[in-house]
Amino acid sequence: MTWTRRHILGLADFTTAEYDIVLQTAASFSDVLLRPMKKVPALQGRVVTNLFFESSTRTRSSFELAAKRLSADVMNFAAATSSITKGETILDTAKTYLAMDTDLMVVRHQHSGVPQVIAAEMDRLGVQVGVLNAGDGQHEHPSQGLLDLFTICEVLDASKPRSELLAGKKIAIVGDILHSRVARSNIWSLTACGAEVHLAAPPTLLPREFADFCEADPNRKLFMHWQLEPAIAAADFVMTLRLQKERMSQHLLPSLREYHQAFGINRDRLQLCKPDVKVMHPGPTNRGVEITSDVMDDPAMSLVSKQVHNGIAIRMALLYLMGNLKN
Ligand code: ASP
Repeated sequence: MTWTRRHILGLADFTTAEYDIVLQTAASFSDVLLRPMKKVPALQGRVVTNLFFESSTRTRSSFELAAKRLSADVMNFAAATSSITKGETILDTAKTYLAMDTDLMVVRHQHSGVPQVIAAEMDRLGVQVGVLNAGDGQHEHPSQGLLDLFTICEVLDASKPRSELLAGKKIAIVGDILHSRVARSNIWSLTACGAEVHLAAPPTLLPREFADFCEADPNRKLFMHWQLEPAIAAADFVMTLRLQKERMSQHLLPSLREYHQAFGINRDRLQLCKPDVKVMHPGPTNRGVEITSDVMDDPAMSLVSKQVHNGIAIRMALLYLMGNLKN
């Protein structure tokens, strides 16, 4: 199968064949990153623009480094220091970078749907610019979902990361699922690859609508829990999520302390999981709220640094696949 997507806006309609292409491509870039010379000429002469309208540490830096490792020219835009503050619209900003011969736009925005609008405008203009969603509101964060998938596959078989490794694995996603684009992207990817995904959060952060996610496809296994214990019992992987205070419009929790008591991941609770359970977090972390420092900093169980590291190979793979589309 060859890659056919000009834009990567979400994982909802990704096929297992597409996951496997991304995993394979990322595995070869991961090898490149082990060499003393970590650069390849795959996107030489091409322009990648990072359009970040919302704050970011990991994702923005990771896309920048990935593009540089592929030898692309990179422009970075940050809303706070841009003409957005003078009233310029998002589409005019995108068109400004288009006029500077951008080939690939990486877009993050606090509102769901912005990367989709920019992609539609590029298509309407008939320019062959690919748009990659780097996180839109609470909708999707596909590159995070893919780097999480790659990280899980590497634990299961580092020699050949592939989607079928997830069949029958139990993966718990714990925390502020309601506001999490990471949870949404992971639900799509992990269930598509055959994992059993268990969501755990207080009812205010895990509305019943989440059950609809997999309705159209009975093969996807998604379970919801308003208590932590059944979700993590015998789990192979536990993904914790940040409480996204910036997206919480009402008082959805009694207090952070109570949240930690009921849903915080600590060493004792992890006894319920498989003995070799691995813990993940997309970052940034509220230490001592969703996860204890003790667990997060334990390299025997925490994959947090590995996730950040793998983000570069995954983003290299995505930029490479989009940037080498034939037509
Ligand atoms: N960094 C992730 C995101 O941008 C997770 C988070 O912010 O909590 O969605």
